[in-house]
Amino acid sequence: MPTVYNWQLGRQMRYPYEQAAPKEQFAFVININRCIGCQTCTMACKSTWTFAKGQEHMWWTNVETKPYGGYPHHWDAKILELLDRADPGGQRWNGRPSGAPRDPYGRFAGKTVFEAPEFVARGGQPNQVLGYLPSDEEWQSPNMHEDVPQRGQSKPMDFGRGEEVSGDTKHSAWFYYLARLCNHCSYPACLAACPRNAIYKRPEDGIVLIDQKECRGYRKCVEACPYKKSMYRGTTRTSEKCIACYPRIEGSDPESGGVPMETRCMAACIGQVRMQGLVKVKEDTTWIEDRYNPLYYLVHVARVALPLYPQFGTEPNGYYIPPRWVPVKYLEQMFGPGVRDAVERYRTPDRELLAVLQLFRRSNRIIFRYEVKEGPKVYETIRDGKKFEMYDDTIIAFDRRDQEMFRTQVEEPVHVRPAAHANSI
Ligand code: SF4
Ligand code: SF4
Ligand code: SF4
Repeated sequence: MPTVYNWQLGRQMRYPYEQAAPKEQFAFVININRCIGCQTCTMACKSTWTFAKGQEHMWWTNVETKPYGGYPHHWDAKILELLDRADPGGQRWNGRPSGAPRDPYGRFAGKTVFEAPEFVARGGQPNQVLGYLPSDEEWQSPNMHEDVPQRGQSKPMDFGRGEEVSGDTKHSAWFYYLARLCNHCSYPACLAACPRNAIYKRPEDGIVLIDQKECRGYRKCVEACPYKKSMYRGTTRTSEKCIACYPRIEGSDPESGGVPMETRCMAACIGQVRMQGLVKVKEDTTWIEDRYNPLYYLVHVARVALPLYPQFGTEPNGYYIPPRWVPVKYLEQMFGPGVRDAVERYRTPDRELLAVLQLFRRSNRIIFRYEVKEGPKVYETIRDGKKFEMYDDTIIAFDRRDQEMFRTQVEEPVHVRPAAHANSI
């Protein structure tokens, strides 16, 4: 089997196909700290793409309450257990996160889903990828365990009781909302497992699609995707998945004005927690330095946004700013060893990070570059023994054509309604 370079693992990895990379890669950042679990993103996708017969159980984007929620049920606990069985005690990271673009989180010493396929031979056929096929029941009740907090759980489902939490918190109970969609992975497990080569990754933007004419509904992709984001449709006997709203990404949607536009689930976000974009990548899938692209900044400069379960090995292109109030060990399992530093930087953001965080959801178009214009200091305090200063800087966003899209400030302007209009509309 060929080997490819997986920068999220800091090492070479087995993968069924030769190393290849798109010109640009679809990617997104979700700030968990601000997600309110309103499911507007979920419904935006549902009402656009999966409202037809046979798609009733399909939620290409969903928001689940961690640690108990999951769609399909317990998807992540199940795949973690399979990996642990394949490599007992070996699923570990070596070294400290360095932040270097080729191995920012250290080196993963365990096995990925591509390195332990022998554990899931099905029907006498060897599989390319470790995985499992959820039952029909597991696809039901997508929002089960909504808002159920964790407290004092004992083993085997010990979610970090008594562990150090990532930030200061007065409460020992915790939960958080994890918004998910297909990660349009750099090394897609769905694609690797398809015996008909019906799944492909577009060379122009890295979006992963299933060719409906080629698919015969073997469900190998459903079984292989560790994030369970490929789904089977009984009425057409094919599998379907998130298409990254590609007419919007291409700028061919009538609303886009000819420039790339963010997807439906991103644009609809009430909490303003989602930002999606396109990043430039090298042949080995490491990111080309693009210092003032907001995604590059959040992932590789500020290093506050981390990949979801990087140890699965698919090199997912969805990144998350981890929550501040959750036990570190639980978060490290989900986002890798960069959690502690990411939470610390987010809790006491520097001047540039505070400005970049204002870019979320000010426009539906994709931001390709930003600039910061310095403003006056408006606040200062001590946080965690460190000085925190807030400046009312202005941040300016530019589109693909390098045209200014909007400018916004760190401090929101306050408009006081004149007394004469106090109760008018
Ligand atoms: S998240 Fe799953 S369905 Fe999406 S590209 Fe990755 S492996 Fe394929
Ligand atoms: S990117 Fe588009 S297709 Fe994919 S989950 Fe979001 S709304 Fe649905
Ligand atoms: S729309 Fe935004 S805030 Fe609401 S659930 Fe989705 S990601 Fe969270």
